[in-house]
Amino acid sequence: MRVVVCIKQVPATQDVVIDPETKRLKRENVAAEMNPFDLYALEEALRLVEAHGGEVLALSMGPSQAAASLREALCCGADRAILLSDRAFAGSDTWATSYALARAIAHLGGVDLVLCGKQAVDGDTAQVGPGIAAHLDWPQVTYVSAVRQVADGALTVVRLHEEGHDVVRAALPAVLTVVKDINVPRIPTLRRCREAHRMDIPVLTAADIGAEAACLGLEGSPTRVVKAAPPPPRRGKTVVIEGPCDRSADRLVSALRSLSLIQ
Ligand SMILES: Cc1cc2nc3c(=O)[nH]c(=O)nc-3n(C[C@H](O)[C@H](O)[C@H](O)COP(=O)(O)OP(=O)(O)OC[C@H]3O[C@@H](n4cnc5c(N)ncnc54)[C@H](O)[C@@H]3O)c2cc1C
Repeated sequence: MRVVVCIKQVPATQDVVIDPETKRLKRENVAAEMNPFDLYALEEALRLVEAHGGEVLALSMGPSQAAASLREALCCGADRAILLSDRAFAGSDTWATSYALARAIAHLGGVDLVLCGKQAVDGDTAQVGPGIAAHLDWPQVTYVSAVRQVADGALTVVRLHEEGHDVVRAALPAVLTVVKDINVPRIPTLRRCREAHRMDIPVLTAADIGAEAACLGLEGSPTRVVKAAPPPPRRGKTVVIEGPCDRSADRLVSALRSLSLIQ
């Protein structure tokens, strides 16, 4: 099976700054890393291809620096990596980003499965995976915590939600977004990293993937950011309960009662 893993490069810091004029994150001169959730998507793709044969393609849309996260994916075992990079993509919102990624996936051809992280830790919208599925008109399953079976042109997965989980069957080709419970990502070997550093990462432009200019960048983005601000710092208070177990348990019960967490 041919599996595409969508990988976003994100700032490697919690101290993101919002530009007051554009109301967008300032990404210049900030150290970057692969979106942590995408590592789990990549690991799942590698396991599926190890079990069923095929290839894993890592795909990212971003500036040339995003190639570093793709190189990381190659180190982990992805067979190929492709960077979507073009001035025409700058200023794209989640709709336009999903459109460009979907166009690239259609351009690659023969893709059976697209795996995304459940969300990116900077933008945090969790919209891009479902957006890709909508643009491709493929089934989607979000918050997947296990892939149980791949057979007869369909997959059966476990999907987490607030009240528990669902077991869902979806026809292929499909798009999944995954949560961290799905696996434990492997640690790349030195040998594979050496190989990965010699591998070519082709760059595709908007013209290469046949994307319409009117659907890209600021012009192609229906989102209007009215206001953006970092959330206020958390004001949590830590209480340490010490002493012998029997007395600590009583004090824990009193503390929980005082917070109305138990009756
Ligand atoms: C008006 C507007 C203008 C913007 N301009 C810019 C800009 O100029 N530059 C910029 O960097 N951002 C820009 N953004 C932010 C950008 O649209 C989002 O970062 C992007 O669409 C991803 O959304 P998200 O971070 O919420 O990802 P989520 O939807 O939370 O990500 C979920 C998953 O989708 C996949 N994914 C997400 N983004 C990518 C990607 N780029 N490549 C591959 N896979 C991906 C990953 O698997 C990820 O785990 C803009 C946003 C708006 C609203």
